Amino acid sequence: MENIYNMTYSKLEKYFLQLENKKYRARQLFDWLYNKRVDSFDSITNIKKEVLEKLKGDFYFDKLEIVKRESDDLVYKYLLKLSDANTIEAVLMEHDYGNSLCISSEVGCNMACSFCESGKIKKIRNVTSGEMVEEILTIEKDLKKRISHVVIMGIGEPFDNYQNICDFIEIVNSNFGLKLGSRHITVSTCGIVPKIYEFANFPYQVNLAISLHAPNDILRSSLMPINKVYPLKELMKAIVYYLEKTNRRVTFEYIMLKGINDTKELALELVNLVKNMNCYINLIPYNETNTLEYKRSSKETILKFYDILKKNKINVTIRKEFGNNINAACGQLKTIKENLA
Ligand code: SAH
Repeated sequence: MENIYNMTYSKLEKYFLQLENKKYRARQLFDWLYNKRVDSFDSITNIKKEVLEKLKGDFYFDKLEIVKRESDDLVYKYLLKLSDANTIEAVLMEHDYGNSLCISSEVGCNMACSFCESGKIKKIRNVTSGEMVEEILTIEKDLKKRISHVVIMGIGEPFDNYQNICDFIEIVNSNFGLKLGSRHITVSTCGIVPKIYEFANFPYQVNLAISLHAPNDILRSSLMPINKVYPLKELMKAIVYYLEKTNRRVTFEYIMLKGINDTKELALELVNLVKNMNCYINLIPYNETNTLEYKRSSKETILKFYDILKKNKINVTIRKEFGNNINAACGQLKTIKENLA
């Protein structure tokens, strides 16, 4: 039995071709799932009974349970229980351009970045493509709001769960389903180099963000263990390939850690690293976590760092802050241990 929300449009077409030589059933079923939003096969009226019975034997409707919802201003944080009782978090942010949902791609995370709360519990399992789709459906239903943007920046490393991420993008982008524009979808990675090459050939024009956080190997390896596996030279080479292949732009995320990666020298080193690249740098004020080791850079330091990049003609923005009061901000999401079996 397979979760029906794991099915991409093309997989469903194949399924129905085999079943009754009727490809168009995929379109009917997607309409029931993503426009009419039924949650059982019994609510479907335009597919004949024998076919529905067969579907019931092959698929089930998975469901996420909302364990907790916290909100603060324009942010809603959800603790969601998966059907095997593992938990993940997702955060909805209301922007002036639409509602953006930050979704989790794994239960726990193996990347162990020293500053990030999400990696304090090792990866337990992948979040399936269907469960990621359900993160959207569950929260849209709860808030009665449409989600226009999705960022895969919650718990987990999306490129450590590559195929599910690709299926997820295909499912939510479908014109017969949720119709989320590919340019409204952002995948963020800590830098799993082979997957960046693969992603360069992925046929959807989604945005790619790279968690950079340091402009040299010594510093980056001390913050992000993944850098010991894929050092900056290899990472940058992969990104150049991605940029050439896709003709797109990448965003580099750079959290501002007081006294660690926020000096003038490092700003200049960063300029050197990314100059001539079609990129944006997004400076992220560090959000405090239970790790007391790190503090947020002061406003003045962040502005100084920003100015240096700007003066050197690097596209740079400072991330608008969201959700800090309810621990819903970047790097604060976590899998809750107590809920684990
Ligand atoms: N694993 C992916 C997806 C997570 S995205 C990745 O690394 O890109 C979450 C972003 O928030 C990453 O850029 C991450 O480095 C950053 N982050 C982690 N902890 C943070 C914190 N405490 N404050 C601000 N940003 C943080």
